[in-house]
Amino acid sequence: MLDENVAKFASSLFKRYYLKNRISVDSIASREFGFGDFESKISYRHKGFGSDAELQQYMAAQAPAFVSYSASFYRMPAGRPMENKGWFGAELVFDLDATDLHLECQNVHGSSWVCENCFSSIKDETIKLVEDFLMPDFGFSEKEIKINFSGNRGYHIRIKSDDIFELGSDERKQISDYISGGGIKMENFFPTINQRNTKLEGPKPTDYGWGGRIARGMIELLDGGEERMAALGIKRADARMLLKNKSEIIAGISSGNWDKVKISKKAEFWGGIVEKMTVKQSDSIDRNVTKDVYHLLRAPSTLHGDTGLVAKKIGSLHSLDAFDPMKDGVAFGARDVKVHAGKVNAFYMKDRQFGPYDSLDVEVPLYAAMYMMLKRVATLA
Ligand SMILES: [Zn+2]
Repeated sequence: MLDENVAKFASSLFKRYYLKNRISVDSIASREFGFGDFESKISYRHKGFGSDAELQQYMAAQAPAFVSYSASFYRMPAGRPMENKGWFGAELVFDLDATDLHLECQNVHGSSWVCENCFSSIKDETIKLVEDFLMPDFGFSEKEIKINFSGNRGYHIRIKSDDIFELGSDERKQISDYISGGGIKMENFFPTINQRNTKLEGPKPTDYGWGGRIARGMIELLDGGEERMAALGIKRADARMLLKNKSEIIAGISSGNWDKVKISKKAEFWGGIVEKMTVKQSDSIDRNVTKDVYHLLRAPSTLHGDTGLVAKKIGSLHSLDAFDPMKDGVAFGARDVKVHAGKVNAFYMKDRQFGPYDSLDVEVPLYAAMYMMLKRVATLA
């Protein structure tokens, strides 16, 4: 439970925020909205708005702690049950959350806290998803790919394109399976792998899709040396054997010849390494969100009730690179507020360090006070 005084304080600030700031949502009349309070992200859904003015009015009057909307488009977004809404298509969405990366730092600070390493790792994964998959393999243009900060631990990607608009849940699942590298069949990339006494042919770094990714990954792995291979679970003796022949192997892979080094049981050997490589690739997307067209996700430009940060729209890949959630997502002002901080890890907001604190009354700018209080690690003093 959020402290009662904090909830009252935060509600009034959210209200003031929405009186001053219009939220910016496209295709309002076709989307379903859901709202939550500080205890539950979605406590009320099946809400529709006929116009932008109606939505702004609602926001200013209710100032919900969480605002979510559908990536799906409906003829009657408020209809219920779901079948009565008249679904006619959906954006393709990807939900990337630092928690899903299982980073080592999370063992130290827990999964609800987000450190600098969490922020930069999830941003890297988001850029990778766009640059390595969505643009080259699926051919989406940068214009079709909309990115926004989730307001807490990650990013949301939404793609609006005629090519995917009417895809059903199964087809969406196939897309996320492809990205995650699930079910990669070695024979598809190494056509001769199960034939005895034949040259092992495989993908080249310049190949399209996963083939090229496997070839480039293998070269990177060889360049990374023994420790990198060991970290992936490759036996040290195998790693050394590969490294001894490194330049020949790399030259071979560059032209699709994976037979530069003689290995017995090559199917198992290469298969094992490729599997280890791909498993690491994409833990980062929540596949259920991509598949579930009825899922509601944070509406861009609204506040996140667990942080007080704005789910900012990010204009381009280039601006994502420079985006700092704890600076560019800050919604509240800098007037001093006295709070009682419990156990709080150090964090940075607007390039300023706060904490670490351990049961201490501190005076901090409003934005930092809200962040700690909504993260439930501080209360009003
Ligand atoms: Zn972390």
